[in-house]
Amino acid sequence: MNKFSQELFSLFLESPKIDTHEHLLPPKQFRENPDILLSILERSYLSWILSGTTGKSSGLTREELLSRLKTIPASSFYRYLIRAFQFMYEFRENSLNRENWEGLSQQIRESYEKDDMIKKWLSGRLNIQKIILDRYWIVGDFQVDREIFSPVLRLDPFFFGYSREARDHDGQSPYFYADREGIQVETFSEYLSLIDHILQKGMREGISALKLAIAYDRGLSFKQVTRTKAEVAFYRKAGEETPEEIANFQDFIFHYSFQKAEELGLPVQIHTGPGKAFQTAPSLLGPILEEYRTVKVSLFHGGFPWVGEPGAMALFYPHLYLDLVWLPLLSPAFSRLALREWLETTGGARIMMGGDSWNVEGAVGSILFNLETMAQVLGEMVDTGYLSMNEAQEIGKMILWDNPREFFLPPQEK
Ligand SMILES: [Zn+2]
Repeated sequence: MNKFSQELFSLFLESPKIDTHEHLLPPKQFRENPDILLSILERSYLSWILSGTTGKSSGLTREELLSRLKTIPASSFYRYLIRAFQFMYEFRENSLNRENWEGLSQQIRESYEKDDMIKKWLSGRLNIQKIILDRYWIVGDFQVDREIFSPVLRLDPFFFGYSREARDHDGQSPYFYADREGIQVETFSEYLSLIDHILQKGMREGISALKLAIAYDRGLSFKQVTRTKAEVAFYRKAGEETPEEIANFQDFIFHYSFQKAEELGLPVQIHTGPGKAFQTAPSLLGPILEEYRTVKVSLFHGGFPWVGEPGAMALFYPHLYLDLVWLPLLSPAFSRLALREWLETTGGARIMMGGDSWNVEGAVGSILFNLETMAQVLGEMVDTGYLSMNEAQEIGKMILWDNPREFFLPPQEK
């Protein structure tokens, strides 16, 4: 990093932040595991590359994990964790091995034994004042510590309500919510009322946004479908729906969600990039951005590997926001490329960042990678005379604070 980047990085570290996206699990879940370091690595992106799965823990033993680590030393899914261990636990090495495992585990355990370790690290050390939390594992539960968290409503399960037996990629069903709330759903009308019900509950409980990670289940092209066509899958016997009927149902639910977002003034966060059969490029959402011009949409992950698309799209859609979240872990090189382009096309407005992690270590590593991306790109822009140092500092504050605040806050609260 050049001297401007270094200076910017220190400033960004201290600046107040809004973290647009996390999945933080209760620290207790890690504390209870006898091999706490293994449990942390299991709930990180490292396990994805080690076991070739997405979103599922690898089930590897410590020995298996250590031997596989030797095959992927340059993976950014490994590097961000090492970065976090160095930052949090004074870990001085560049890789994990049999010799340093116990010492690091001990440090981590001490940290987890203190109350409020999430706040200590994320608020205390990184000055994150608000974290937008996506607890996709409980449909429609918005119980979070409001001092630091703000919940979103994850809509993916509602794309699978055509059958009581269908599940989204996280094993969720909208009927888990219906059953918990004692809501009868026999007709398609009642099904749409169930969606209205969870939206109303979310509004009462102050959700910040709607969240869609449906790209893990299907492509991101959503056509306009009549209600008559959409309900065919709903009335089919479970397992007898055709792929086309399911697609019609889901397309309808997608548009229904956007109509509701429009009515309720809720912004929408959408996962783009890695996903089902790579039919998940941001540009597939072009027709949606044309149609719903008053809904603020945040495109996640830079659409990796299509990182050239979101910046161009933001130029033409002022309601489109760009979130770096997870991109610096997918590829630090592509995150720098993307951010540079986004800065040039949006001017610095509408860009945000977030951590996308299940534990504090992941969140710290991820936020540090985001801040490094910002510092490197802005520092180079200062170095070449494209921006002044003062402008680079101001843009940093916009990304960390002003832009997410504008995206999430309803107009009356500004
Ligand atoms: Zn996520």
